[in-house]
Formats: sequence, C-alpha cells, structure tokens
Amino acid sequence: MNKKSFITKEKAMEIAKIYPTPFHIYDEKGIRENARAVKEAFAWNPGFKEYFAVKANPNPCLIEMLGEYGCGCDCSSMTELMLAKAIGMRGEDIMFSSNNTPAEEYAYAAEIGAIINLDDITHIDFVEDILGRLPETMSCRYNPGGVFKMSNGIMDNPGDAKYGFTTEQMFEGFRILKEKGVKNFGIHAFLASNTVSNEYYPVLAGQLFELAVCLKRETGAEIRFINLSGGVGIPYEPDTEPNDIRLIGEGVRRAYEEVLVPEGMGDVAIYTEMGRFMMGPYGQLVTKAIHEKHTHKEYIGVDACAVNLMRPAMYGAYHHITVLGKEDALCNHKYDVTGSLCENNDKFAIDRMLPEIEIGDYLVIHDTGAHGYAMGYNYNGKLKSAELLLKEDGAVEMIRRAETPRDYFSTFDCLPVYNRLEKA
Ligand SMILES: *Cc1c(COP(=O)(O)O)cnc(C)c1O
Repeated sequence: MNKKSFITKEKAMEIAKIYPTPFHIYDEKGIRENARAVKEAFAWNPGFKEYFAVKANPNPCLIEMLGEYGCGCDCSSMTELMLAKAIGMRGEDIMFSSNNTPAEEYAYAAEIGAIINLDDITHIDFVEDILGRLPETMSCRYNPGGVFKMSNGIMDNPGDAKYGFTTEQMFEGFRILKEKGVKNFGIHAFLASNTVSNEYYPVLAGQLFELAVCLKRETGAEIRFINLSGGVGIPYEPDTEPNDIRLIGEGVRRAYEEVLVPEGMGDVAIYTEMGRFMMGPYGQLVTKAIHEKHTHKEYIGVDACAVNLMRPAMYGAYHHITVLGKEDALCNHKYDVTGSLCENNDKFAIDRMLPEIEIGDYLVIHDTGAHGYAMGYNYNGKLKSAELLLKEDGAVEMIRRAETPRDYFSTFDCLPVYNRLEKA
C-alpha cells in the first residue's frame, strides 16, 4: 500500500474536538511541493503558465497559495470569474475556458481582461455582438473528433464530447478572427481525462504543435500560446505509479523542439489548466463511523455522504479508504461504506476489504482535493462540510466553515415562512 493519510488518528481526534466530522482537509506541504515541481518541470518555457482549473477546487485560500507559484485561474462561469478577480487575479492571469457561454459571462470576462477561449465557431459573432469588437488576444478550443490514442491504446473519445472546433473550423475560425482584427492567437484542447501516464501531454502537445504550424502557415495567425488544458491524472488506486511531472515537462519540451522550434515558433508559450493534478491528492475527506448494519451485506455507515464527495456515486469512482489507527491491521472484513442519503448509490466503497471497523473509528477517504467538495450539493437537505487546511507547521486552519441550516434556508428569504424557518 502506498497510500497514506497525511493525518494520524490522534490528529483527527484533536481536530474533531473543534471541527466536527465530516470535513475536508488539505495538506499545505503537499500542495506547495507539487506546485513547485510543476513550475520547475516547465521552466524551460519562459512563457509557461498553469491556469488552475477553479472548478476542481474553488477555495480562494488554496488558489492564492498556487498563485505564489505563478499560477493563474482557469474559469468557466460567472462566479468563478468573480472569485478569480476577488483574489487579485488580473487580465491574463485569467483564462476563460467556458462552453455554451451566456452573454453576460463573456461581457464580464472581457471587462476584467480575461483571455477568452472560444468553444465554438458561432461564438465569434456572438462575442463580437456583445463586446462591439473582439479582444486582441483570443483562443480557440480544438476537438479533432475520433478517439484519442496513445501507445497503450485508446484513452478517450473526443468525437463524443460537446466541446471545441473541428479541424476545418479551426482554420476558418482563425481566418475570420484575423480579419476581425485579432492579433494574438491561442490553441486549446482537452482530449483525455484523468490520464495516469506521462505520455498524455507530450502526445497532445505534438498534435497541437503540428496544428499550430499549419494554422500559422495557412492563415498567417500569430500563435502566442498553446494550452494543453487539464487531464493529467492521479492514481486513485493504491499501488499505481503516479505521473512524474518532470518527465511530462521533458516530453513536451522534446515535441516543442522537434516541431515548433524549426518553424521559428520557439517563442510560443505553453499553458496548462490542471485541476486534479494540482489538488487531488492533497485533500482528504475525514468521516466517522456511526453505525454498523448486518443484513444481506455488511455495512458501515459514516457521517459523510455523497454530498461531500460525489465521485463514487456519480462515476463509480474508486477512492481509497484508510481506517485511522488501523493502518497496519489486516484487511479481512468486507464492507459497503455508506452515507445517509435516501439513494442506494450513496456508497463510498462497495465490497471493500478493510480492517474491522468499530463505531467511532475515523475513516479517511483519499484524493478528495479536486472535484470533491467542489461537486457538493444539498440533496436530502444535507449541509456541506467545512474545509480545513493542515499547515506546514502542523496547525489547522478553517478555510471554509460548514454550512448551517440558515444557509440552506436562506434562498427562501423572499417568503413569509422564512421567519419561521429561522426560528425553528
Ligand atoms: C475540468 C477542466 C479542466 C481541469 O481538468 P482536470 O482533469 O481536473 O485537470 C481544465 N480545463 C477545462 C476547460 C476543464 O473543463
């Protein structure tokens, strides 16, 4: 087993005295070390910038921390743009990679100077109508269709994805944008998700660099950046080798030197929009066993549920579980670990071999730093948990409080019944 909790049972008990379970906790040291490694892996490219995908974890404290390593924000909605602006991101620190975008969001993105990454050719006119004229810098999202293959086979299925311009539309789009006065161009593509392989970015980069060369030749567009977007994965399962960002950076550099440099395009900046890789492993959901149930199966009921972490219920995703204090115990009990939603898919684990669990045990659900809290919702009237930060010096800081019933009822404040809810 190579998956270890970054907090011990003693620490969990100490924290739970102040912040009751369930809570998400993040590891400052891990986040910082990884952000530094990303920066170093692409240091060969002077224009490199990671635009952290805010949707993966929209906590301003964590995003500000990434900002110390030069990261900007990749946003795809109004509130994500507002959040980026509020923490001091400015202009080209913000990438707006949205799709099916409402007019007011484009208007706001332009107002705060974000780089607009168009998802569709029809949005050229749409944005021009809203803004009066197009910004000088624009990016287009590419979707070549078909399947995305690497040496170990098919990785994903872009042909089924709603995103992006076709190849023909990229050429036509660049021509139109150029005619309309756009001066600096970007190319963006997100073709495979959660790739646990050092090959994904280099293969994608190779394809986008070739496309960039053709686009420049045929349209004369000045290509300023190539955005490899997200998709760099993490191993959710134990015993899987994690990605090595240094090797990934080196692989991208090789493709860059093979394809772009000979074409006189050695000044193109590499951008990324990683979410999962930046934050996923550095978050954990800590929850307590509150019931055991012996019926047709053996169940452990915990005080977290799918509103705290939706991925297992939504995708059947595996999240490793550690029973704190029993790290070295034999995994000789088979459990379904369940939440309390009235939905049978509210299970963090199914038929999972774990040590014997007693009521009161603390369970750590691993790798919840990305698409964890962020995907939370309020079904069954469940309230979202707090988010905590384990600082490098071992102190624990609350970086988002838990929701209260008052938060849950607050959108009824237009109704007379609200006063009664408030007092209930
Ligand atoms: C979700 C998303 C990302 C981040 O993806 P990860 O797999 O978390 O790295 C980046 N860019 C866009 C446009 C996205 O939708």
